Amino acid sequence: MISFLPIGGGNEIGANSYFINFNGNGIILDCGIHPQKTGLESLPDFDLITDKSVDYCLISHAHQDHIGALPFLVKKIPYVKIITTPQTRALAELTLHNSVSILKKEIVEPGFEFYSHDEVDLLIKMIDYKENKNKFELNSYHQLKDSQVNCTFFDAGHILGSAGVLLENNNYKIFYTGDINLTAQTIQPPAQLPETKIDTLILETTYGATDSDLYLDWNSESFRFAKEANKILNSGGSILIPVFSLGKMQELLATIWLLMQKRKLTTVDIYTGGIGTKINLAYDYNRFVVNRVDEDLELNAIPQKDYYKISNPEEFFKNPCIVLASSGMMIKGTSSFTFTKSWIKQKDSAIFTVGYMDTNTPGYVIANSECGDKIQLTEYDEPTEVKCKINNFKFSAHARREDLLKIVDKLKPDNVILTHGDEDAIGWMGAAILKKNKNIKVYTAITGKEIIV
Ligand SMILES: [Zn+2]
Repeated sequence: MISFLPIGGGNEIGANSYFINFNGNGIILDCGIHPQKTGLESLPDFDLITDKSVDYCLISHAHQDHIGALPFLVKKIPYVKIITTPQTRALAELTLHNSVSILKKEIVEPGFEFYSHDEVDLLIKMIDYKENKNKFELNSYHQLKDSQVNCTFFDAGHILGSAGVLLENNNYKIFYTGDINLTAQTIQPPAQLPETKIDTLILETTYGATDSDLYLDWNSESFRFAKEANKILNSGGSILIPVFSLGKMQELLATIWLLMQKRKLTTVDIYTGGIGTKINLAYDYNRFVVNRVDEDLELNAIPQKDYYKISNPEEFFKNPCIVLASSGMMIKGTSSFTFTKSWIKQKDSAIFTVGYMDTNTPGYVIANSECGDKIQLTEYDEPTEVKCKINNFKFSAHARREDLLKIVDKLKPDNVILTHGDEDAIGWMGAAILKKNKNIKVYTAITGKEIIV
């Protein structure tokens, strides 16, 4: 018997975390934090698993919405065994330490206890790591006869270390995609899938509501990017690109550098900074042991300047430059948010967005505005006129919806559980799956609602 209980992020992109009871083995898949919420509200609802026996927590990748709540889970369930890929473990060490300082700025509320650097160090030591395609056993405390579960990670093509999770017991197979991408980025090659029929597929649906015709492939979008960037740089302007420090910063840095090398993009100074540059090193160290489009491409060898060394943002406008600054959605208080305030006053310069923006973020306000508009970045900011140019690009690290359907075609599941998408995304995916395959049972993951398959 399998029961699947979303404890966070069921019908939204947020604190992704799912509890599975797989023939008596208690397994948590991912343990994320909601990036736009604070305190207890940002965590999965751990009360939902108080009466469950939890043996394992398997983490698909190191983005905060998949791993950020792990220190809180360990406080609740100190004996839980955590397994990731080696790269996710290395990235977790960087990002969880980074979160300690960010969380400290939040308002303290009862029941929400911050964690410390020492606790992160202990947690990282607890994480066991397994290479992709290397089958291993999960040994649960309450294991019944014949209930041994085997687990295998598959490269998910999303960011460094990202993995889909295959769970097998007595010939029954569950596959959890995590965040998955079936097309190549500049660094990350496409996902690899199990070569076997799956019984229950747990499928992400991020782009289920997005018309794929709006998406060019990464290469074509790079050339469109270069064309628009050259217009700005050649007229003396500078470009601000808000990026997630894990994944998007590395992919865009590599993309920009290769365009400059091919003389498709005007060569100017590139600014990076913060934790993103440490993550660049993790990408470099691992380049010979993971799948890469080009293992010789070394991010640290790309000439970069540190934006933390710039005391006055006006310096960015003295000479044309490109600034890759986190956070990706320009969350208040981050570098990209601070720089934006200077950028929007510059008529020759531009802000280029390169990915998904949640509706209630300053990034969304920017992506949906144009030169001449009066905008308010947050409710606390004065309305300001946008004088710079705004250009939106789509460099996606998630599968487009047709590719998600290809996963269903290839794995031939009897049951599909749809996760990690809004109502429209899940609605489109569910209808599209049923239209092609009437015999598949499709379920929607809703936080707190148990699914028995
Ligand atoms: Zn992700």
